[in-house]
Amino acid sequence: MSAEDWLVALDDGLCERLDHCSLCGRKGVHWFHIWEGTALAIGTALCVRCRAADPKYDALEVVMQQRYAKRLKGSLIWATGDR
Ligand SMILES: [Zn+2]
Repeated sequence: MSAEDWLVALDDGLCERLDHCSLCGRKGVHWFHIWEGTALAIGTALCVRCRAADPKYDALEVVMQQRYAKRLKGSLIWATGDR
């Protein structure tokens, strides 16, 4: 990934656009983190409780893989026409 791939995620964090926890959905976030997949970077935010419960981002990794790994795989399948 290039540095440009991080721009949207960085902008989300710097402009504080994320106001719901990426894990539990609760409003009121405390911690910003950029999740990096194999082909994209996505801004995430965690509430105090989820941040304390997931200090190494293991749970966040599982959620992000579920959300975006399938989409990426789907995109690749669609792009090649191999269904
Ligand atoms: Zn939370």
